[in-house]
Amino acid sequence: MSAVGPKATCATCPHACSLAEGQLGLCRARRNVGGVVTCENYGRLTSVAVDPVEKKPLAEFHPGCTLLSVGSYGCNLCCPFCQNYEISQVGPDDIGWREASPAKLVELALRCRAEDPRMIGIAHTYNEPLVGWEYVRDCSLLAREKDLVNVLVSNGCASPAVIDELAPLIDAANIDLKSFSPAFYQTCGGDLETVRSTIARLAGEPSCHLEVTTLIVPGMNDGDDEMRALSGWLAGLSLDVVLHVTRFFPRWKMSDARPTPVETVHRLADVAREELSHVYVGNC
Ligand code: SF4
Ligand code: SF4
Repeated sequence: MSAVGPKATCATCPHACSLAEGQLGLCRARRNVGGVVTCENYGRLTSVAVDPVEKKPLAEFHPGCTLLSVGSYGCNLCCPFCQNYEISQVGPDDIGWREASPAKLVELALRCRAEDPRMIGIAHTYNEPLVGWEYVRDCSLLAREKDLVNVLVSNGCASPAVIDELAPLIDAANIDLKSFSPAFYQTCGGDLETVRSTIARLAGEPSCHLEVTTLIVPGMNDGDDEMRALSGWLAGLSLDVVLHVTRFFPRWKMSDARPTPVETVHRLADVAREELSHVYVGNC
């Protein structure tokens, strides 16, 4: 039986899914309910952990502290090397979750802080948080009232209106800049220009500390010229931007690939250091 009822278009990301009544979006997190695209994964947590800030990764934001890190399900990209595909590439019928309203999440964060004052706030991470951006917004507003910090770990592939709404609420962000090649982003179902726009917007937000991660995948984005262009562009935004150059390990559709040679990661980090003063290697 075909769906009836009004179609609706989602404005959250460049996919602009046009959804029939009851249909899930490509990210599996949003659904057309009665002609309105709703955030169906709102408050549905699949992963909850207290992680060191360094694990996000954030290298220059409250080192030694921890964050209550939460994720749901769903993502608007489908990177073949996804490390979190068990939660990013599934929908509501494929995985269990537990409900946590923003008030409940903030309450949990306050309990964690009472037990350990190094716990300074909440990180939205693991799957892609921006496909459920309303939850990030509502939690962040409440967290601010309690002097908790808000951290966003994201692929950055969301519409400028979403980023504009969240930017003033985010204290620190780590955004993937997976490559400087539009073709690479097409492989992942994403859009380089949108990600660049997100990074530029957050770099210009005075209250947001920005770090960027580039995962080096052998044969896909491991050329010196690409890293030179990527880091040069970041340096043009701000010399304070922190860049993580990280090592790929075989995963999901790339389980048969070899890990990135450690020397490649160090070589590309050195290339980035020609432009930027805050460059770190990861997973080496
Ligand atoms: S957020 Fe999800 S539903 Fe909305 S346009 Fe992007 S992929 Fe489609
Ligand atoms: S954007 Fe991140 S979570 Fe989404 S598929 Fe790619 S690696 Fe996985």
